[in-house]
Amino acid sequence: MNELEELPIPLLTWYRENARVLPWRSDPTPYHVWVSEIMLQQTRVAAVLEYYRRFLEALPTVADLAACPEDELMKLWQGLGYYSRARNLQKAARQVMEEFGGTFPSDYDAIRSLAGVGDYTAGAVSSIAFGIPVPAVDGNVLRVVSRLTDDHRDVTRPETKNALRQALLDTMPRFAPGDYNQALMELGATVCLPNGAPLCGRCPAAGFCAALREGTIDQLPVKPKKKERRIEERTVYLIVRMGKIALRRRPEKGLLAGLWEYPNELSPWPPPVEGAAAFGGEGKHIFTHMEWRMRAYVVEAGTDALPEGWVWADRTELAGVYAVPSAFQSFSHLVEEHLAGGGQ
Ligand code: SF4
Repeated sequence: MNELEELPIPLLTWYRENARVLPWRSDPTPYHVWVSEIMLQQTRVAAVLEYYRRFLEALPTVADLAACPEDELMKLWQGLGYYSRARNLQKAARQVMEEFGGTFPSDYDAIRSLAGVGDYTAGAVSSIAFGIPVPAVDGNVLRVVSRLTDDHRDVTRPETKNALRQALLDTMPRFAPGDYNQALMELGATVCLPNGAPLCGRCPAAGFCAALREGTIDQLPVKPKKKERRIEERTVYLIVRMGKIALRRRPEKGLLAGLWEYPNELSPWPPPVEGAAAFGGEGKHIFTHMEWRMRAYVVEAGTDALPEGWVWADRTELAGVYAVPSAFQSFSHLVEEHLAGGGQ
């Protein structure tokens, strides 16, 4: 893979001129790098910025994160999705407190042993915060490397990932591993774009990129066909009474675990709504493997009684206490209208 040997100097030069200014880059403590890397998994930089700022304002140290009450943590994460990331962050923070005496570990294997930290995150934190020369291979990096070297192996297979990771390890500049990893990710995020649309004219590797030379860019990276998403039709009940709405907590395990939701059920449309209910609107939400198509009904409750584990929440509590996932975002206007007009 000669292309990877040629890459470091042009890539680092390009990165130093073109790197986006990001808050975790200006103060790359291990805690900052780790929190930002976890937030950036499955989420775009622009969406992460404000969450990152609020998160660090509320929880400036690993000890604060370890001690944060669950509902507060979920509230800080509300809307960012993939909530198990937040739970694992806290689990790992507690590991840092208990197993590492409150100091973030500084070697790769110890970092890799933290909850929610895989090869990629361990590589990113080790190299950026501690200058350890290990690669951090995410989807962006796999795309860049497979194109640069015209590699047609399936990048979702562990053997391919391992081989590309090893090739990067063998060729990465020992004097700047953190910048090099970030530069590769940055190139993938801003220049070597997915779906056959890279901006090769702006790429520091254009002079020696094998896929550009061979005309194979739109075939790379090679991935198996995606499975179709399962579609679930759900009925959502917006149960209101005197300026409050009923919420229930989702189970501790599985999708959106432990978050609060408007009661809903899997049911083919039209749904079996009885009594005084008004059709409120439709919404949908796309998860990785599934899509929810929801119809909401507003139900005026005749009594305060709720099943066990459910709660009544007013506007303030909905905004500040209970984390309702953005899957229900389509109904937030409707809920707001009913709570505002519902009498106090
Ligand atoms: S030349 Fe084009 S395809 Fe090759 S690495 Fe650069 S942006 Fe990607």
